[in-house]
Amino acid sequence: MRLVFSSRYELDIGAHVFPTDKYRMVYERLIETGLAQPGDFHEPSEPDPADLRLVHHDDYVEDLLELRWSPRTVRSELPLSEEIVGGFFLHAAGTILACRFGLEDGVAMHIGGGFHHAFPDHGEGFCYINDVAVGIRKMLTERLITRAAVIDCDLHQGNGTARVFQGDPAVYTFSIHQERLYPIKEESDWDIGLDDETDSDAYLKRLGPAVPRILNEQKPELVVYIAGADPYQHDQLGSLRLTKRGLALRDRMVIEGCYRRGIPVVPVLAGGYALDTNDTVDIHVNTVRECLRVLGQLPPRPEPAAMPEGESELRASDFEPQAGPGVVDDSPLAVEPPREDASR
Ligand SMILES: [Zn+2]
Repeated sequence: MRLVFSSRYELDIGAHVFPTDKYRMVYERLIETGLAQPGDFHEPSEPDPADLRLVHHDDYVEDLLELRWSPRTVRSELPLSEEIVGGFFLHAAGTILACRFGLEDGVAMHIGGGFHHAFPDHGEGFCYINDVAVGIRKMLTERLITRAAVIDCDLHQGNGTARVFQGDPAVYTFSIHQERLYPIKEESDWDIGLDDETDSDAYLKRLGPAVPRILNEQKPELVVYIAGADPYQHDQLGSLRLTKRGLALRDRMVIEGCYRRGIPVVPVLAGGYALDTNDTVDIHVNTVRECLRVLGQLPPRPEPAAMPEGESELRASDFEPQAGPGVVDDSPLAVEPPREDASR
């Protein structure tokens, strides 16, 4: 599987809850575990500023290029330096590249990206450039696709992405997130706001019917899957209570749901603020594993540490109402879960 990554994603943002070393750590873990080889990784080239302007307003892009504190840049909660701006621009180029790979290969993943709080005219919430929106707009502009969907499973609502695509019939936005938390909510095409303390089981029961409904009804030609690690039970910013296993099953629902329908899917990392960054890395690596699994490229003996036993009794078969008794956890989600009335 082709993976997009740059060592320049690791940025000096000072003492901060956002661990920008996680990108390098995911890269290193993938190599160490044999899940990926160095040749699987592709580094994006410098982005064309015109691509950023497919989403972002000229005066905002100018502020970033000139490192200007303004009402447009000040809400990022990040410092503003040449290195940081360059890093965010590169993440956007990375998501463009991952979208190209995804369209060619069916599945490709960006070990970066997911900055869904960036709006056309301002940054906020650790996000300067909305790489997801840029990637999708680029594919639409080049007429490689006519319809796309964003399936956003980060802890936080994808408010920037929702705003970018409001009124755009070519892009369907879905977000499932903790309701009583940053940000002030924008209107996605479909939002599921979860109560505090929602656990894996309850989460997957909400997501399970949503994924096939989105894919069957909207028929996107590309899905960007925002696979945030921050719904994790020990995340510092949220109070959803998903286990690592629950998060991996979440990944499987989205990735396999797309793949089985022949819909290209591109996961991007987005948030993850576990006290121990190694937990965040585990969750992101498990997303790569789910991609490899669906492609039939998973090494035969996955290392046992990645998905601890006993932390959850959830099994993929819980979401396969017609599956037989022999279903094991590694089997695909072969049967769609029953539909439930969506709370739009
Ligand atoms: Zn988040």
